[in-house]
Amino acid sequence: MEIFKENGYAIARIRIKESDNNYNYVVWCIETSECAVIDPLDQRTLLDFIRQHNLSVRYIINTHAHPDHIEGNDAILKVTTSKILIHPKGASFVSPRCEMIDDGDRINIGRIDIRVIYTPGHCTEHVSLILGDNIFVGDTLFLSGCGNTRFRGDVNELYDSIAFKLTTLPDNVKVFCGHDYAEKNLKFALSIEPNNEYAKAKLEEVKSEYSRNKEPQPSTIGEEKRYNPFLRFEVPDVVEEVKKRKSLSAGEPVLIFKAIRELRDTW
Ligand SMILES: [Zn+2]
Repeated sequence: MEIFKENGYAIARIRIKESDNNYNYVVWCIETSECAVIDPLDQRTLLDFIRQHNLSVRYIINTHAHPDHIEGNDAILKVTTSKILIHPKGASFVSPRCEMIDDGDRINIGRIDIRVIYTPGHCTEHVSLILGDNIFVGDTLFLSGCGNTRFRGDVNELYDSIAFKLTTLPDNVKVFCGHDYAEKNLKFALSIEPNNEYAKAKLEEVKSEYSRNKEPQPSTIGEEKRYNPFLRFEVPDVVEEVKKRKSLSAGEPVLIFKAIRELRDTW
């Protein structure tokens, strides 16, 4: 678990034991102690944390409705006066004690202002949340990877969300994702670009953190552009390698992106 203190607010990133390396988040306003819980899986750990820090839960925000991102909802609803915030396309998966959020909406928690952006693709209801220079991307983007599209997903939508929304954010924006798949993702990146020095250095950094029982530090959009193959669909070396491997004649960005997703699915 790690706490990131910013000006007026704090972010707790809690890695959940015995899960698919899920991260759960608690975000709170330091002045009012109101908080939001993002993508709760392990309600017990979260409720302990909330009690220890004397926080009051205003909202449970689900970036999307896959089971491992909503499982803790009901237990938290039961002991708090909070509400769930979710995109309308995910509402049927959660308790009726919910309100809808969509692209451009603002969520206020104490003095915190969170902006919602609609980032479908990993699944149709997926939203990401911008708070200052931080973004919570759920399973849209991972360190050196992106979400798969096997469960209610659409790879064309995922491409649009990444190419036209996430990569247009400033380079210094810190990326808080829904799972830690960093080591495998960086190894995959190096299978596409064996000479990418940034990917090599990041893999060493991540391995050294694991060896000290630590979790990888959140990356930034600028860093992802240097080593994440799903943001490098226009880099000539990547285009050539992917065309060769998938026997493609055309190299349009969306085709390269889809081909990289297919390669990763079977890697
Ligand atoms: Zn998911």
